[in-house]
Amino acid sequence: MEANRKRFDPHITWAADYCKHCFICVNICPVKNLKFEGDEMVSLNKCIQCQLCEKYCPDFALEVEPKKAGTKP
Ligand code: SF4
Ligand code: SF4
Repeated sequence: MEANRKRFDPHITWAADYCKHCFICVNICPVKNLKFEGDEMVSLNKCIQCQLCEKYCPDFALEVEPKKAGTKP
């Protein structure tokens, strides 16, 4: 069954049902874009679409849109 995904950032969706609040994503993000407000994932709108949070989330809760070809890093 496909999880209910929330678009909490222009580039990222999050499935609250999959998330166990381990904070790996919060800690691994190189620009500190992610934080929790209570149980809710919040974006500080500075995502550089590196996709590290998606790769390292053990529960596949995050999906980051890949950078489009030709856009600056
Ligand atoms: S894709 Fe990279 S910059 Fe964006 S929230 Fe995830 S870890 Fe941070
Ligand atoms: S890494 Fe995944 S499971 Fe852990 S807090 Fe982030 S979204 Fe939730």
